[in-house]
Amino acid sequence: SKIMLSGIKPSGDLNIGGYSGALSQFVALQHDYDCYFFIPDLHAITVYQDPKELHQRSRDVAALYVAAGVDPNKAVIFLQSQVRQHAELSWLLETQAHFGELSRMTQFKDKSGGKDTVSSGLFTYPVLMAADILLYQATHVPVGDDQKQHLELTRDLAARFNHKYAPTFTLPEPVIQESGARIMGLDDPSNKMSKSNPNQGSYVSLLDEPSVIRKKFSRAVTDSDMSVRYDWEAKPAVSNLIEIYSVFSGDSIDAIEKRYEGQGYGTFKKELAEAVVSKLEPIQKTYHEIVHSEELDRILKNGAERAAEKAEQTLLAAKRAMGFVTF
Ligand code: ATP
Ligand code: MG
Repeated sequence: SKIMLSGIKPSGDLNIGGYSGALSQFVALQHDYDCYFFIPDLHAITVYQDPKELHQRSRDVAALYVAAGVDPNKAVIFLQSQVRQHAELSWLLETQAHFGELSRMTQFKDKSGGKDTVSSGLFTYPVLMAADILLYQATHVPVGDDQKQHLELTRDLAARFNHKYAPTFTLPEPVIQESGARIMGLDDPSNKMSKSNPNQGSYVSLLDEPSVIRKKFSRAVTDSDMSVRYDWEAKPAVSNLIEIYSVFSGDSIDAIEKRYEGQGYGTFKKELAEAVVSKLEPIQKTYHEIVHSEELDRILKNGAERAAEKAEQTLLAAKRAMGFVTF
């Protein structure tokens, strides 16, 4: 069977970048795969998280999965920290990962750059990600642009382990998205839209009020000439807005270009904001209904149980392959 795993960290505000590159994909792909959609809270703490905020955001992400349309009766939705096998397999794999290859991870370089101190967890983060994927024998992993290198590492570690010890792990294939895999910041089209960006104007949170969403799009940077044209070289800012428009309206890039031909940015930006608002309104409504509910607790408990069952099988196989005494 085809098995898919993916997750969105409970750090910062889940925004339209994560929606485009991850959450909307979860919803679209859940019927084609056995899906594990988790909340990587152990990954979030590679940089400091205020405990209260981590707690709330973990529930937020879970509630947003469900509100956006992930079906908890089909997909396994769980918190990473509630399935202990992740941390345990991660240690086994850390002993297989090379210092040099981890040093080459561009996300580590990006996230550690300019900091006085960097946690070693930020450095070994890609190994934990490999453990996440390999525990479930995932065959497919949807990857936004920023995760391609980490998935390559996962495959390398799996192949290395299988070769050195015994065939244990499935090598996962990337599922590359055709559009919307890399949404850029509204303030700067040369930077990926990121929820850890302290400038809240750089992204639209899935939980932003309609008035805030409208304001953020009206302030989004554009390019010098006034045409609505999709051309990443010459017009990165507008191309990014067209891309967002396409993801949220379902209209093709071509159709959007044609609709605004010969017009300036004004109407385009207004209607873009409306497309995003009308997609997010029902999601926000359901989110508010379930985020503090016991139903959400049940979904997460049940998800953790289902996940642990599968994860334990793989962990045991890995431990046996390495020679640990198991019973
Ligand atoms: P952080 O800056 O803390 O890493 P993030 O916004 O990158 O946060 P993640 O939780 O790291 O969010 O990513 C979750 C998923 O969303 C990943 O699959 C990632 O590829 C995807 N994703 C994140 N940002 C974008 C973006 N700007 N465009 C498309 N996909 C994105
Ligand atoms: Mg990220």
